Amino acid sequence: MSLKAVRAFLNALDKAHPDARSELIYNNTFELLVSVVLSAQATDVSVNKATRALYEEAPDPASMAALGEDGIAQHIRTIGLWRSKAHNVALLCQQLLEKHNGQVPDNREALEALPGVGRKTANVVLNIAFDQPTMAVDTHIFRLGNRTGLAPGKTVRAVEDELVRRIPKEMLRPAHHWLILHGRYVCKARTPECWRCPVTEWCLFKDKNKIPPKR
Ligand code: SF4
Repeated sequence: MSLKAVRAFLNALDKAHPDARSELIYNNTFELLVSVVLSAQATDVSVNKATRALYEEAPDPASMAALGEDGIAQHIRTIGLWRSKAHNVALLCQQLLEKHNGQVPDNREALEALPGVGRKTANVVLNIAFDQPTMAVDTHIFRLGNRTGLAPGKTVRAVEDELVRRIPKEMLRPAHHWLILHGRYVCKARTPECWRCPVTEWCLFKDKNKIPPKR
């Protein structure tokens, strides 16, 4: 896809999702970080259901650390991988208190050194909380990058690097949300809904005109 087409593709997604933002519910950067850690292999809806009561009880690292691994686990049992996530969140809170004065660090190296925080989670937090032009590639964005020709790549990192290289810097932050919403609701994994897609004109998916509208 040409750079001109990339820009047109993203402008069309902007029109389709003018208020695009994360669907995770959080009140501060700490809660955002925890929600993103909990959202690995889980839906945002399931995370939001579990964190409502968790954040009422523990909205900061100190109160979350006081809750402890077992206390956190009580709240998140409905989320996949809850045991290891409770373990990681408890450790993460301890490290925030010991090494970062209870604050979420604003740089990749420090974020990725926290338990349960990988490159994708760091990218989300840097993008949303610290206004940095990062691109977190989840399953939707990986699929979209390859299917549409926006950023083909064999690995998540290759797609991330290609997106960062091709997307105009000022569009990178919102593009993260546009692409996730587009992948979640229109360009779906099994059957993309090409007949109602706002970016058909620029998409390079070879079967885009062969998929019949859903009845
Ligand atoms: S035309 Fe189809 S394959 Fe291409 S982005 Fe739209 S929904 Fe996805």
